[in-house]
Amino acid sequence: MCGIVGYTGINNAVDILLDGLSHLEYRGYDSSGVALMAEDKINIYKAPGKLSNLIDKLKEQDKKNITSKTGIGHIRWATHGLPTLVNAHPHSCTCGGLTLVHNGIIENYKEIKDELESKGVKFDSQTDTEVAAKLIAQNYAMTKDLVSAVSQTTKKLKGAWAFCVMHKNEKETIVATRKNAPLLIGVGDKENFLASDIPAIIKYTKKAIYLNDNQIARVKPNSIEILNEDGTLAQNKIEYLPFEPMALSKMGYKHFMLKEIFEQPDVVRNILQDKLHDEFNKISLDDVKLDKNRLKEINRIQIIACGTSLHAGFVGKYIIEDLTGIPTDVEPSSEYIYRNTIADENTLVIGISQSGETADTITAIKQVKQKGAHVLIVTNRKESLLARLSDSLFHVNAGIEVSVAATKSYLAQLMSIYLFAIYMAETLDINPKKVQEIKHELLTLPAKLEIVLSNAPKIRELAKKYSGYKNFIFIARGINYPTALEGALKLKEISYINATGYPAGELKHGPIAMLDDTMPVLAILNEGMVYDKVMSNCEEAYARQAKLIGVANFIDDKHKNIFEDYILIPQIKDMVSPALNIVVLQLLAYNIAEYLGKDVDQPRNLAKSVTVE
Ligand code: GLU
Repeated sequence: MCGIVGYTGINNAVDILLDGLSHLEYRGYDSSGVALMAEDKINIYKAPGKLSNLIDKLKEQDKKNITSKTGIGHIRWATHGLPTLVNAHPHSCTCGGLTLVHNGIIENYKEIKDELESKGVKFDSQTDTEVAAKLIAQNYAMTKDLVSAVSQTTKKLKGAWAFCVMHKNEKETIVATRKNAPLLIGVGDKENFLASDIPAIIKYTKKAIYLNDNQIARVKPNSIEILNEDGTLAQNKIEYLPFEPMALSKMGYKHFMLKEIFEQPDVVRNILQDKLHDEFNKISLDDVKLDKNRLKEINRIQIIACGTSLHAGFVGKYIIEDLTGIPTDVEPSSEYIYRNTIADENTLVIGISQSGETADTITAIKQVKQKGAHVLIVTNRKESLLARLSDSLFHVNAGIEVSVAATKSYLAQLMSIYLFAIYMAETLDINPKKVQEIKHELLTLPAKLEIVLSNAPKIRELAKKYSGYKNFIFIARGINYPTALEGALKLKEISYINATGYPAGELKHGPIAMLDDTMPVLAILNEGMVYDKVMSNCEEAYARQAKLIGVANFIDDKHKNIFEDYILIPQIKDMVSPALNIVVLQLLAYNIAEYLGKDVDQPRNLAKSVTVE
């Protein structure tokens, strides 16, 4: 994770760097720092914790004295070493002439550190990053050229990195390189920028160059020179950035998360407007390059993703198998990478990632591409690395999501999966009746979502009542089992309460041992195939004195009394119900965390884009 920015040009670097970092805070908030090139040295300012601590440190008065026009900045999500001042980036060489910021993990840093220490090199921090600073400085002492020094160093490193490096002898220059971590160069007029992500620079330029793995760039105010790994000059094209400068505002909501939860009816409307107008016409997906002949060759589907995206993938399994009959497996990307996975040209691999940068998913996708599988990427960022690796693309188009806990992007991923499953069934001419039914249900979703949201005050009351419990169990069956997983994850992420999602039928195979009146059980019930079964599992929990909370579109009269509380959602077919049920669980998690006074938008230890394995 971590966010990197760089600036070299004619304006005051510190303001641009701090502003850029403020748009990257979703990537981490363990510490921040900037390095600014002065006449004959580099000045470094760092602070632990959120960016506001660094801004406070660089008081307006002091900032007036900082006139540097070249600098680099960093916001950290710690992988190696505590989130302390000493571990904050930028890191430097021993003489202080060279400094760098890093996003990623240097996997072999221990060997390098041992070797350098045996030669007498002293380290200040516990980070993996500092070895790169020391090594580049050593190489620079010999080559006197920063690009060569960086190139020699990265050849020795294993892992993932985006680096921005400065040396006091190379005025107005930032050297940048990347491997398996994002970094783009913003192209300006007499000024150039570097950033981990577009929001950091979009205010200043709409033109950018994307670096490929292992390319190295020498960036100056009036020039950008890019070298390939073999030292030859590269000609990367300039691309136009898709964003408007955004005034990211909470629009009156207390937190971005709440605003994003409430945006969901419009997010769904937006997706439908682009792709599904009525239940009678076929869906066409422009960036999906799977025609009937190619789809007929697909005999298995593998969905790989992490976190919330993985839960969208689980919903995908139910819907895709039901509509197309093609066997579909779902697996966390981090598990998929390190075993002998079976994929070939008849396999469709669907990678789901909000940011399109998730390191585990990138590695997995690179592997399956070598095996000839067709790769479909479902992402909220169509310019991301994963999007670039795709054969087919589904841009979920949920708009920028600021809150670290995903809400609207999850719903948009669900919509994408539904639409893609329908697309496959229609292209293969199968299951027309079911397809039409699901299309009909999807078209009714925005209005039903609004009804669920209008129930927010009741959910808030419930949150207050249950905020004192330390443990929760979420249960469901069938296509809502992933909803139970996602609901429990939301609660864990932002309130730090222990919550676990189980298939309701599994309760009796172990977890039921934990039940008593200190362990609320939240059950998701929808009229349909598994309603009676889930209700029996609710009875089992009730018999163990667990406080039962129902999220349901129907509860029959004879069972109402076993529920301590329940929230009713509008009528919806089982298949599409995850899209409504999850909103109740998002609101519940939000309100519990808010009631407990947690930092809802930036929960501890998390970051929005997970760019390390
Ligand atoms: N490994 C570096 C650190 O711990 C960078 C972390 C990251 O990119 O997430 O400081």
